Amino acid sequence: MWILTQHPDGTVPPPLRPLFSGSDPLRHPRTPKPGRARAALGRPPATLRADQHAFFLDFDGTLIEYAPQPNAVTVDAGLLELLRQLEQRSGGAIALVSGRSIASLDAFLAPLELPASGLHGFERRGATGVYTQHARPSRQTLAAARQLMAQLARMDPRLTLEDKGYVVALHYRQVPYLEGAILEALERIVDLTDGDLQVLHGMMSLELVPPGVSKATAIAEFMRERPFRGRRPLSVGDDASDESGFEWVNEAGGLSVAVRGTRPTAARTGLPSVSAVRAWLRGLIEGPG
Ligand SMILES: [Mg+2]
Repeated sequence: MWILTQHPDGTVPPPLRPLFSGSDPLRHPRTPKPGRARAALGRPPATLRADQHAFFLDFDGTLIEYAPQPNAVTVDAGLLELLRQLEQRSGGAIALVSGRSIASLDAFLAPLELPASGLHGFERRGATGVYTQHARPSRQTLAAARQLMAQLARMDPRLTLEDKGYVVALHYRQVPYLEGAILEALERIVDLTDGDLQVLHGMMSLELVPPGVSKATAIAEFMRERPFRGRRPLSVGDDASDESGFEWVNEAGGLSVAVRGTRPTAARTGLPSVSAVRAWLRGLIEGPG
């Protein structure tokens, strides 16, 4: 099966190599990433001064459990209370850093509206409520990317396309062995858009994202503002896209916490589950720090 391709300027490039070319998709091995084995990671400290740290928290798979579809997750009252208390204890130095849009985070956490970065660092709402966005890809690029992603999604009914506006994601949770083939196809789409988009790994998803943004850029931007500035950054997450954030906080002398999973990680500490993350945060709120 071939992907039909059209450059955003209307020209048609030479045909791409076949996607899912009839052979075993497992022949596309996952690229090993440098980092430590998660099983070898120690736990983060059970107590620390919440008023001296800046908390950067991923959402799905970190604060809440995954659902088969992104919009099927459920948020319980206990999480809202935990986040409210952590906001209070840290003096407001808490931000959600997610691949979801900020609007989606707000909808799940209503009436709570925390500082947040959405769409992998593309958009951000600071502690004062000011909303900022990075440079947008052109409409033409986005339209072409959407069309090609939709073609990919139609190739297997177990793939789910999620259009988040300036980010388009393809979820392959039900067919993880297709990761290599999807990655290859998305890299070809990026080539067609002349670098107007980049590929980012989510958790069992591959996403086309505006270039130059990441969870690391989001954390760096928060850290230039009150009340985050001058504090020790702390990043907790489970996605491949959290790795850039881990690397940033490690370099800044902060604390990185990888949640479950088996992939090697740049994080220096780990927790085994969503419930362990919540218990750890609860301990920090109730602790002497
Ligand atoms: Mg996650």
